[in-house]
Amino acid sequence: MTIQTPVKKAKHIPTEREQAFLDTVVNAKYDRQIIAGIKKFATGNVPEDMQGFYSPEELQALEDLKGTGLDVEARMPVKITRHYFDIAKTSKPIQVLVKASPRETYDLDGSADPGKQMSYSPVEGLIHKYELGLIYVVGTCSAHCRFCYREELIAKKEIEREDGTVAAKGMAQLVDIVSYIKEHNRLVAENGGRHPDTGRERLREILMSGGDPMVLTNKNIGAWLAGLSEAGIESIRLGTKELAFYPDRFDATFFDMLDKFHVAYPETRFRLMVHFNHPDEFLKKDENGNYIDVPGGGLEWIESTKRAIVELGKRQWLTVDNQAPIIKGINNDPDALRIMQRELKRNKVENHYFFCGRDIIGHKAFNVPIEEAWRILNESQKGLSGVETHARLSITHYKGKTEVVAVSNTPAPGIPGGEKGVIVMKLLRGAADAPDRGKITILGRNPDAIWFSGYNDRVIYDEAGLFDEVQ
Ligand code: SF4
Repeated sequence: MTIQTPVKKAKHIPTEREQAFLDTVVNAKYDRQIIAGIKKFATGNVPEDMQGFYSPEELQALEDLKGTGLDVEARMPVKITRHYFDIAKTSKPIQVLVKASPRETYDLDGSADPGKQMSYSPVEGLIHKYELGLIYVVGTCSAHCRFCYREELIAKKEIEREDGTVAAKGMAQLVDIVSYIKEHNRLVAENGGRHPDTGRERLREILMSGGDPMVLTNKNIGAWLAGLSEAGIESIRLGTKELAFYPDRFDATFFDMLDKFHVAYPETRFRLMVHFNHPDEFLKKDENGNYIDVPGGGLEWIESTKRAIVELGKRQWLTVDNQAPIIKGINNDPDALRIMQRELKRNKVENHYFFCGRDIIGHKAFNVPIEEAWRILNESQKGLSGVETHARLSITHYKGKTEVVAVSNTPAPGIPGGEKGVIVMKLLRGAADAPDRGKITILGRNPDAIWFSGYNDRVIYDEAGLFDEVQ
């Protein structure tokens, strides 16, 4: 028998500048008091005040599905922090967000990869679209949203790749990502600004995602920031829900790392992409469940979240943007979204995108129909000022990010197919190429549609080519 020597994986070798920065970074320890797994609730192995979080009937219903094809926790593991539990205690929407429920698996219809993300993955852990790359740097978060689109990553499910092989999604490795960026950008530069094969432009931005990068140590986050900067990335985004799940992670050691990173790499922009679904995640409530007015304007925030937001706001060289899906039972509520948009903008957080749900397996319990999501967002923006209404409603077509621009309330006379009114979509960016930006698609209305496929039979005008292929 021949014993195979394991192939040694190449390691990223930091430059002197990287190393000098990394030598200054300090890690801290955090006590998120995480409860992971429904079993802990079922066996009472949780602090006393958490014991009634699931009723005996709820626990029994989940237990009954265990090991079957409808096993809720096999779809998405249960996880909650003490901070988020304290919010959930008095918030129905947050309970829907974080509490497992049998209804999640009643309808498992849907696609494993409706946005065809894997078609854009040239390196393990990287999705390369437009001038932007998304990297999976970690496969978990401090708590788990039941509606997560990345459930295959978090639950470590095996997925089918482009080449037909089946394997769990792997994490991005710094050494691979740096070498891909350098090679891609070299070819683009040599070829007059476009990649000779894909036609893509220079890779300028990276979104660190997962999972939640804020569960990594400061040194680990710092290594990514410095490595990507050395590779020529101009702008790094970090996608996180940690401000909702465990805001104390944004402590002095984290800001110290960020400040030192900025000193070492002043040319790199840093954008924190935060994820608040509902104002209950950051606003305090009184004993009657009402938000608390602050004299002089605004509402009172949860202290630890406010502290983090104020610290972020002090740093002119970074930006903070919120983006969140509109989810049934959580934030399909114009009043909640109005309060959230106003209060975030007041605290220097830009409202970037709201997302339509995806036609993903196990997502039916959370899907809000596309036209309803548009109505909710539009309604929520009534009464807000122009700067508070920057958020757009986006839906991720495999061709690129698409905006749901408008839905008419009345029939569109003279437009065949528009008898019930029309919905207008606009391609914000083609996934491979920029020139398609701004092209539109007009569809006859279908109030029940949760995905493009709901419009296959009512395409009126398709300049954007969203229906070149049957969805
Ligand atoms: S924070 Fe994001 S990645 Fe993490 S569980 Fe929630 S939706 Fe999924």
